[in-house]
Amino acid sequence: MSKRNLNLIFLGPPGAGKGTQAKMIVDKYSIPQLSTGDLMRAAVSSGSSIGDEVKGYMASGALVPDALVVDILLDRLSGDDCRDGFILDGFPRTVAQAESLEKALVSRGMPLSGVVAMIVPDEALLGRLTARRICRGCSASYHLEFLKPKVDGVCDRCQGELYQRKDDSEEVILNRLKVYHDQTSPLIDFYQKQKKLYTVDGNNKIEMIFSEICDIIDSLN
Ligand code: AMP
Repeated sequence: MSKRNLNLIFLGPPGAGKGTQAKMIVDKYSIPQLSTGDLMRAAVSSGSSIGDEVKGYMASGALVPDALVVDILLDRLSGDDCRDGFILDGFPRTVAQAESLEKALVSRGMPLSGVVAMIVPDEALLGRLTARRICRGCSASYHLEFLKPKVDGVCDRCQGELYQRKDDSEEVILNRLKVYHDQTSPLIDFYQKQKKLYTVDGNNKIEMIFSEICDIIDSLN
């Protein structure tokens, strides 16, 4: 019997743990993580014209316009490494993005397997994000108190340098949370109606959440 592709979306507010869980899923299921945030941060660092265009939105915590982010994501999704599946981390973030994605996936014969929504209350997210540090090399995420690297300022996975994202300041986080509630959370309903939605309690321990997500994924195959 041929294995079904794993075409997944990880949905949740900033700081819910989407990136952390996606990286663990990448290691276990050998499918790539496609983070639109990472793709756009790379565009900004490269100094490309797209980078210049998205910089201001990202700095304030606003969403980058749909047309731009959809183009970037669909282009990345054409990569050979996405043929057996992928995890979308941070995309879609609006209903319009979800509709564009759906059209593209249907036309490419890559139906969505499932959407994992991580639920975490806002109060917990602020503390997680202000103490978050990210690896410049592999974008792994750490927490100054609860998920410390073995060596201060150095990534356990790739020995890259850890830094604090500019948009992980309190003021910008509050805006990102508002943007999530206004523009992204309607996707929970959107995917529930399609019977694609699976929710996990993102307040549990990382290993427990991972095990729940693996159970969900294995139930899809
Ligand atoms: P993230 O790394 O997922 O927290 O994303 C960082 C920032 O990139 C967001 O605050 C947005 O400005 C932008 N961004 C990432 N993904 C999207 C998306 N799907 N749609 C619009 N903007 C996005």
